[in-house]
Amino acid sequence: MAVSEDVLPFRQFVLKVHSRCDLACDHCYVYERADQSWAGRPMVISPKAVDKAGERIAEHARDNGLSGVRVILHGGEPLLAGLPRLAEIARSLRRAVEPCCELDLRIHTNGVRLNAELCELFLAERVKVGVSLDGDQAANDLHRRYAHGGSSYEQVLRAVGLLRQPRYREIYAGLLATIDVRSDPASVYHALSAHDPPNLDFLLPHGTWDCPPPDAGRPDLTRYADWLGVVFDEWTADSRRVPVRIFESIIETTLGGASLTESLGLEPSDVLVIETDGSIEQADSIKVAYDGAPATGLDIFQHPLSVAAAHPGIRARQRGIAGLTAVCRQCPVVTSCGGGLYAHRFRAGSGFDNPSVYCADLKKIITHVRARLRPGTPGQAGEPGQSPPQRPWNDLPDAQLDDLAAGYGGADAISYLNAAERTLRRTLLRLVHKRVSHGNDLATAGWDLLGRLDRAAPAAVDEVVAHPYVRAWAERCLRPASAATANGAPPADVGHLASIAAAAAVRAGAPAEIEVPVIDGYAHLPTLGRLRVGDIATATLAVEGAGTFEVRAASGKWHVRPGSTEQDPDWEPVRELRAGDRVVRLEDTDPYRNCHQWPVTPRLAAGEAAAWQAQFEEAWQLIERGYPRYAPGIAAGLSVLLPLANDEPGREISAAAREAFGAVGAALPPTGADLALLIIHEFQHVKLGALIDMLDLYDRGERRLFYAPWREDPRPLVGLLQGTYAHIGVTDYWRLRRHQVAGSDASDAAELFARWRMMTAEAIGTLAESGALTPLGTQFVQGMRATVQPWLDEPVPASAEEAARRWGAERRETWERRRRR
Ligand code: SF4
Repeated sequence: MAVSEDVLPFRQFVLKVHSRCDLACDHCYVYERADQSWAGRPMVISPKAVDKAGERIAEHARDNGLSGVRVILHGGEPLLAGLPRLAEIARSLRRAVEPCCELDLRIHTNGVRLNAELCELFLAERVKVGVSLDGDQAANDLHRRYAHGGSSYEQVLRAVGLLRQPRYREIYAGLLATIDVRSDPASVYHALSAHDPPNLDFLLPHGTWDCPPPDAGRPDLTRYADWLGVVFDEWTADSRRVPVRIFESIIETTLGGASLTESLGLEPSDVLVIETDGSIEQADSIKVAYDGAPATGLDIFQHPLSVAAAHPGIRARQRGIAGLTAVCRQCPVVTSCGGGLYAHRFRAGSGFDNPSVYCADLKKIITHVRARLRPGTPGQAGEPGQSPPQRPWNDLPDAQLDDLAAGYGGADAISYLNAAERTLRRTLLRLVHKRVSHGNDLATAGWDLLGRLDRAAPAAVDEVVAHPYVRAWAERCLRPASAATANGAPPADVGHLASIAAAAAVRAGAPAEIEVPVIDGYAHLPTLGRLRVGDIATATLAVEGAGTFEVRAASGKWHVRPGSTEQDPDWEPVRELRAGDRVVRLEDTDPYRNCHQWPVTPRLAAGEAAAWQAQFEEAWQLIERGYPRYAPGIAAGLSVLLPLANDEPGREISAAAREAFGAVGAALPPTGADLALLIIHEFQHVKLGALIDMLDLYDRGERRLFYAPWREDPRPLVGLLQGTYAHIGVTDYWRLRRHQVAGSDASDAAELFARWRMMTAEAIGTLAESGALTPLGTQFVQGMRATVQPWLDEPVPASAEEAARRWGAERRETWERRRRR
């Protein structure tokens, strides 16, 4: 049974395989908190329950079309189940689940019983092992002790030592530390990072408003934030060598991405617990609320897991911002915090409808991390971005926000978007370097060269890193392989980092020699062009000085002067479109440019490029002369025009892409005036995309679909917001155009103005009433409305008004008909 449309499937399953533990940690939420259900459960999960659990998980994956699920063997202490039982459990789960989807099988242990035999089993059965360790011995001994009071530290250290051995490294999942603010944060961080964990996570001790953890729940005291702040600063100074989930989640959510942990962010929970007796339960942490809190009354023998997906307790953790209390919904850090862990919100009387008991701490640590994300200073020694700190990366003064909200945005406002995008791209480059470039010599050399150039010639690095398709490439590198090939684009090659560095070296005229990848027969230099070198894997590029470089490969040797008018026929430079002192690149060579909604053209012939030049000149003159409120912003932010393919002559095709800030894609329309409209329209998307990267305007967990008057299909909230903002530009274009032309052109323009203002105003109303906007989003939409409202009173001929009204009524009728079907 598939879950219904608005109920989300589970992707992570915590399978309790043993309900007792060999340690007696006093901060344990299983044995030391309100819920005591463990006492009535079988000690070890039965083979029948394991088989049924596998069957249910497989059924759930199949019914919901999941490509993969994660199962975490847990307890109590799961190793108490013993090696033979664990082997049977792993095999049973793989047998059941793998015919349906990928199975990421893990075990989380206190480590004291982990030995080489168990590691061999986990290696053979592909089970990754996470270990609980609270830091150095002093920190670990605060809680992680045996019932007789003895320390478990030595045994855990031996377990971690085993996992660090080259043979077992691949099954080492990471370390989980529960915070005790009495311990020294710097010592804890360095003790843990010395174990070189693939992942490190810090857990706030579980508690509620009724039973708060020590020093939590007091607005005047933020000892957890202060403790984590020290760890964050140590981590940053340590080049963020080890991924720390809590900090990476804050950074990712600040940059518009998803949280990596259930304890932060607005992502819907997708975790389900299966107990040793087959009971289906909600997240374990809810045990701290009250006895029986995680219970659902369901079990795997009688119920498919999809029934649990509709359980009100589980639904409550899937509603994004709408599921939070009013205080959280208004909070400036809500998209990173998400009200904290669900369990931590509990208070008798109001249930879970409260901010987190860690509210003051969460607000402070999120603010601390955000304040340190500054343009050009991602905090990495030797990486691109060592220029002096400037304003915080997501800082946007009210005046600039209001200017953008009005639908415009001058050079000043765009400079803030440029700065934020610059930081975002550098952060993405760092993530590519850290997460996916291991073992790729080209990428490693590219990273080193970029770091060197960034100190010597930062402007050249900036110019290349600002290229729209550098971000598109980086995002594709960081996506799962299956998603990377969407849109027919080639899979991302991390070695392209070398090409980015090479382009920066060429721009800087800095002597350098580097091997670059060859893609489809070309060596690429983003922003500069591509060189046809033939069907080989790599070529060596040597920059000899300003304005010249050499490429050597098995297929030949080229000496290129990229700026020269007498070109080597193998060198295909990126051409520039000029209008007065305005210059944009006509991008038809970058291998990662195919990320807009429509396919791109191949390299344009000289005549086609000349047609673009003629139209751009005409379009830009019109924008400058007729649309002075848009021209400065476009001049400051538009760097690339991307030719899109058009197999239907006369059809208007244009598209911006969120991951390609600064680029507008279009099929060359018939006239310069048409191109001006496409540029104004699409640049609205460019601006808003960057703004959404910076600020939280709406609930990113919102899943409802909304009526967009210009579309036949319903739109998600962000689609409606994007379309509405873009259509302010379109409305304004026709509003002014009707005075620039005469005769039937003027009548057509008047009708289009009447039509677009009606649709845009209606969409603004839908947005305002959606209930899914943050306070900033509400301010933004009010700004849009303030621009459009007076346009509704501008006179147009009665025939134009009537035609627009009729058109709108027909659209609405079509929509209602479709909705009823
Ligand atoms: S910081 Fe506090 S108010 Fe803000 S979202 Fe988190 S729990 Fe809610």
